[in-house]
Amino acid sequence: MALHPQAWLKALPGGLYCEPGGFFIDPSRPVDRAIVTHGHGDHARAGHAKVAATAETLAIMAVRYGDGFARQTQALAYGERLALGDVTLMLEPAGHILGSAQVVLEHGGSRAVISGDYKRRFDPTCPPFTPVHCDVFVTEATFGLPVFHHPPDRQEIAKILHARDLFPDRNVLVGAYSLGKCQRVIALLRRAGYDRPIYLHGAHQALCDLYVALGQDLGLLLPATVADTAKIKNEIVLCPPSAIGEIWSRRLGDPVPAVASGWMRIRARARQARAELPLIISDHCDWDELLQTVGDVDAPEVWVTHGREEALIHAIAQGGRKARALSLVGYEDEE
Ligand SMILES: [Zn+2]
Repeated sequence: MALHPQAWLKALPGGLYCEPGGFFIDPSRPVDRAIVTHGHGDHARAGHAKVAATAETLAIMAVRYGDGFARQTQALAYGERLALGDVTLMLEPAGHILGSAQVVLEHGGSRAVISGDYKRRFDPTCPPFTPVHCDVFVTEATFGLPVFHHPPDRQEIAKILHARDLFPDRNVLVGAYSLGKCQRVIALLRRAGYDRPIYLHGAHQALCDLYVALGQDLGLLLPATVADTAKIKNEIVLCPPSAIGEIWSRRLGDPVPAVASGWMRIRARARQARAELPLIISDHCDWDELLQTVGDVDAPEVWVTHGREEALIHAIAQGGRKARALSLVGYEDEE
């Protein structure tokens, strides 16, 4: 008889722990052996002894934390098998950001999939999420409420271009998280035919450089920091969402402030972010996509790590599957 994953995969205070393999997945504190799903700061932390992840995720961690972020690193390609103790481990694309992966674990005749953060829609900067059939599917629930519905990206990108046409004397300042969202917005603008230079806040430079070094075509990017900002007129400028209200943004005259985030669905959040132009662009699933994914992986049991778990657990149970909350701490609503 197969050994149920609850016998070998435990939610500990430091994160999800695979006992027979002796490793944590995305641990929130330094551990001996960590498997890291992707480079966002709440999943990828410095200070572990050994880290296994995709080569892209390891490169992102090196940019953010310096080369000594772990004593030992191991790059795994998607689909490559790694044996740790009695456990077989494999990474599959999660479609969240460059290098993001789901962790597929097999032990005792059963299979668990830890999806990390993931999304289902097209992203020019990373391969799409691959559904893997499993006995237990572990999912986040960042946007786990029916109110969260992400419109087509093309429609949101068109709003940026429209604002630029509408205000020939103003720049459009787009607040976007510096890892993943920023590069995806740029790539989507390029696909929409926008070929002018795109200007970057200094905080976005290093990760954009890395994306380009890893083969992403982002077109001409110019710094908005050292350039004479007074000369930047009617351009698109990307910055961290927090820079929208800062003195830095005043150097750009009177820009149209936009913010790209799944949270822009909520009016109070858009106001709080000072977004005149809220853009609902998310690197997470919306409600329908979460439920669609549970159906696609067809797991009889689903564990929900963090986010708005209750409604999702209820909806999954109504669909005839078991569902429970792990309530893992340390993960943020990072966009
Ligand atoms: Zn993430």
